[in-house]
Amino acid sequence: MVKAYSISVVLSERSESKDPSSPEFPDISSILPQKSRFRNPHPSKTFPLGKSRKICYNKENTTWEVLMNYGFGIDLGGTTVKLAFFQKDGTMLHKWEIPTDTSESGKRILPDIAAAVLGHLDSSRIPKADVLGIGIAVPGPVLPDGTVNRCVNLGWGVFNIATTLSALTGLPVKVGNDANVAALGEYWRGGGQGYRSMVMVTLGTGVGGGVILDGKILHGSMGGGGEIGHMTLHREETIPCNCGKCGCVEQYCSATGIVRTAKAYLAATDAPSVLRALPDFSCKDVFDAADAGDPVALAYLETFYANAAEFISNICCVVNPEAVVIGGGVSKAGQPLLDGIRRHMDRFLFHAVSNMELRLATLGNDAGAIGALRMILPENN
Ligand SMILES: [Zn+2]
Repeated sequence: MVKAYSISVVLSERSESKDPSSPEFPDISSILPQKSRFRNPHPSKTFPLGKSRKICYNKENTTWEVLMNYGFGIDLGGTTVKLAFFQKDGTMLHKWEIPTDTSESGKRILPDIAAAVLGHLDSSRIPKADVLGIGIAVPGPVLPDGTVNRCVNLGWGVFNIATTLSALTGLPVKVGNDANVAALGEYWRGGGQGYRSMVMVTLGTGVGGGVILDGKILHGSMGGGGEIGHMTLHREETIPCNCGKCGCVEQYCSATGIVRTAKAYLAATDAPSVLRALPDFSCKDVFDAADAGDPVALAYLETFYANAAEFISNICCVVNPEAVVIGGGVSKAGQPLLDGIRRHMDRFLFHAVSNMELRLATLGNDAGAIGALRMILPENN
């Protein structure tokens, strides 16, 4: 067994002149003190970012061995790219955003991300060799090898993101669907922490989801695993969903679906409601009205809770998860949302899968970046 000695290397503050888009970095040996080799008196100490690195010197064959302590987690959206730089234990050291340039079929998106990643390493004086890689969540179906199967929001067709971004950065890359990756983040560090199997239900502008079994994302054969928003809930529906089908979960349980169906509910009754005074109310207005005791909002929400309970119960019959974690903008309604759904689940939940716990997501907008980091960790590969 090779015996390794740890040393700490204090590096200078930011370099001023380097072009952040430059793909090349000086070899690690050029920033190490060639003569000074000494034992680290505090081998377990975590050194502050940008000040020092923990680097091992292999005594037998005089090869420098750099511990891969860091990783990037990136959440690529239609308008912004959320980037985060982490310690590999999940501690977020830095996060920032750049705009998503979707012009010309999105051909500048990955070069922009590569420049942001390399620019951060450069300004932090962290060598690539100390970085595990890049995890990236994208808004579209992704195959296990990193091939994206059309991202309509970005203008992308079919190509391999992993090999392209890896070539641009010189770092290993793992790619996942954004909803699935956010689920992995909640599983690892959020509302699903401590459970072995979990389903994430994201009630936002649309309805997304992700299934995590024993720490692994269920991708499905074509990358469409976890697309719970397009399960059919009401087959008699005649208004089409964004996907072209009629009666999808998303048409009733997304924030936009809640507003649409609440308006229809309001129009079908003469009962007084504070919602009538609002020319164009939001999903939050509906929950606020119910909170204030508005009878129409309360009665409407029971139909929403029943819809949510029905489709979540159906998912449980397939997955039998330990937990269902609810995220997205609608989850800001908090405990009343969980209580409302739970109240109706007894009607729909098959007894053999009724052990599941209903929880709220806790990571908010960081779930994607945290899940993206988790994808590149050794224990996930
Ligand atoms: Zn649909």
